[in-house]
Amino acid sequence: MMNTCHYRPTTAVVHKDALQSNIQSLRSYLKKETAIIAVVKANGYGHGIVEVAQVALEAGAKMVSVATPDEAILLREKGIESDILVMAPTTVAFAEKAADLGITVTVSDALWLQKVMPKTRHWKNRLKIHVKIDCGMGRVGVRDQASLLSIIQLIQEDEQFQLEGAFTHFPCADDGCIETTKLHFDKFKEMLQVFPEKPKLVHASNSAATLLYPEYGLDAVRFGIGLYGIAPSREVQEKLPFPLVPALSLESELSFVKKVEKGQAISYGATYTTETEEWIGTLPIGYADGLKRGLRGQEVLIQGERMPIVGTICMDQCMVRLPREMPVGEKVVLIGKQGKEEVLIEEWAERIHTIPYEIAVSISERVQRIYE
Ligand SMILES: *Cc1c(COP(=O)(O)O)cnc(C)c1O
Repeated sequence: MMNTCHYRPTTAVVHKDALQSNIQSLRSYLKKETAIIAVVKANGYGHGIVEVAQVALEAGAKMVSVATPDEAILLREKGIESDILVMAPTTVAFAEKAADLGITVTVSDALWLQKVMPKTRHWKNRLKIHVKIDCGMGRVGVRDQASLLSIIQLIQEDEQFQLEGAFTHFPCADDGCIETTKLHFDKFKEMLQVFPEKPKLVHASNSAATLLYPEYGLDAVRFGIGLYGIAPSREVQEKLPFPLVPALSLESELSFVKKVEKGQAISYGATYTTETEEWIGTLPIGYADGLKRGLRGQEVLIQGERMPIVGTICMDQCMVRLPREMPVGEKVVLIGKQGKEEVLIEEWAERIHTIPYEIAVSISERVQRIYE
């Protein structure tokens, strides 16, 4: 979104063909009647919300979904014409804007509808609604049949409300153990009985459930992390029905190279001391770019070889131990492939005990995105 740093060689290269390939593989894996909702929240998991939405829709996604009203508005402003679902509750104030822009809202609360109803009369467009059902996630969603019925009745009472869909979200699909997810799915089906008529678009699965349990595909799946070529968890990675192609590489260049004698400290806190005479390279990337401080020791790729980040990672720079002298300007791959070596986002995530999602969204705006 923000390309501010054209003179700094630290870039996130987003491979559009990888995004396409992941959508196309998914398309052929799913049943014909199951649509793909491309999840592009959080700036397309760091890959660029507008670009990812465009590529995904061209490659066969039917609609996109986001987490916030602003993300949806941005997509409309940038010319995305597909349906756009905001998957979280929104304020009453957003309802008219959503109707105006044809943005689909998520409703799981009768009170929200009651507060919006007195304002709908002068609207030019109807408001598209998906009802959210909580089957075990415990985040948002209607949890019992009586409340669901009153929501459906309120929607029917106002001509300006248009019930388009119903969905739930699985909390445990990525652990690879089907029992819990089956319980949640059964509860969802039970709740769906309350609808006098099946809503047009009923959906439940995130990437993990989509990949592991195609039988829960229904009318659509919400495909997020998998779209970016990243497995939701190790358990899912081991059972992938088709290969996922990572869409992002994080690249930089050596900005400074020096020979250091044995016993010299490197970086803040002197946490690393050279063990012999060493070549140390500096990279223009640090924790303000998303290279978290905990990633000290993580290997990067230069000339097709792995070499470690040494010393404390600074806000804007870090140091690596080179096996020999290398020139300033030499290409460095922090995430992605070089020669026979590859560093996956998953490797970073494991090193700092988090999930790959968090790594992807942490690559900050300061890092220029390049689309190839
Ligand atoms: C983020 C999100 C998704 C996408 O999840 P992935 O694991 O990235 O596929 C799906 N549904 C909801 C409600 C979400 O918030």
